[in-house]
Amino acid sequence: MTKKYVIPGYIPPEEDEILSSWIFRLARSHKMKPFTFAKYGLEVPDLWNRDFDKFYNQKLVDLLTTLTPLNHCKINSLHLISYQDIIFNSKINSAFTEGILNVGVEHRMRNNKGLLACPLCLSKKEFYKKSWRLVSSIVCTDCLCNLIDECPDCKMPIVFQRLDIGKKDVYLEKPMYLCWNCNNDLRKNYTLIDKNSDIFKYQEYINRTIEYGYNKNTQYSFNYFSVLFSILRKSRSNSTKFFRLREAFTKEFEISSDELSIHNFELSLQLRKLLLPLIYNLLSDLDQNFIPFCERNFIRISDIRSDGQPLPFWIFNKFR
Ligand SMILES: [Zn+2]
Ligand SMILES: [Zn+2]
Repeated sequence: MTKKYVIPGYIPPEEDEILSSWIFRLARSHKMKPFTFAKYGLEVPDLWNRDFDKFYNQKLVDLLTTLTPLNHCKINSLHLISYQDIIFNSKINSAFTEGILNVGVEHRMRNNKGLLACPLCLSKKEFYKKSWRLVSSIVCTDCLCNLIDECPDCKMPIVFQRLDIGKKDVYLEKPMYLCWNCNNDLRKNYTLIDKNSDIFKYQEYINRTIEYGYNKNTQYSFNYFSVLFSILRKSRSNSTKFFRLREAFTKEFEISSDELSIHNFELSLQLRKLLLPLIYNLLSDLDQNFIPFCERNFIRISDIRSDGQPLPFWIFNKFR
């Protein structure tokens, strides 16, 4: 066994905390800037130039097991790789993994709105959650609150690690709930949701599916997510190949948005909030909701399945 040299400012990760948030807080508990901590504490000088929550850095994980009391299993649970075989059934790919939002790394900047936040969770404790990187996350069921994906004032993406950049040699500890760009308090403008709303029921079903690894629809949760994400993608696809699904959504649910995309992570949070609960409702009762919807709109198996992938049996079964 490798000898442990636990760092003096060790603090344990919070429940559902994402790796980058924990490392950011570890830097602060050592009174170091996150970039300095990465360079001298972890010996990974370019750490923050990558989306290391998604890109799996074995060396970093190994190192963290020697510098903290945590084992590999615990460190991995902070990484998005922990959703493998739960949300996606492929290898985690740093460029694109279905179900994971893309932060759009450019050096130390993040160009996409790929990190969400719950304003009320941030009021309880300053840290960022792993589930705030998921395409399927739209509301917080603990706080009954809509998630946000930008600063409500300046509309910039949420990039907490930029908070401590500031002037060289000046150590700052701005609260993690501030916007890095305009110092606006991200906890201020929140909107609540109803416990009886479809959006709440949807999110609760998703959270339980992730927790258990299965749900009412299928015994393998990734087989549910692959259908959910495939329908989501095709409902906003700009391809003429999938016009039937797109038109069915526009017609039946009066979706007026002209937003079209290739990948789900490009869809705005606004549109995901609208579409995901609708898809969840369709799938929640295949005989009563989904199959009649398909029949009314001449939707076939090929309109639903993920490109090149066979349709999972739990839904394929219903088309015969
Ligand atoms: Zn919350
Ligand atoms: Zn701002």
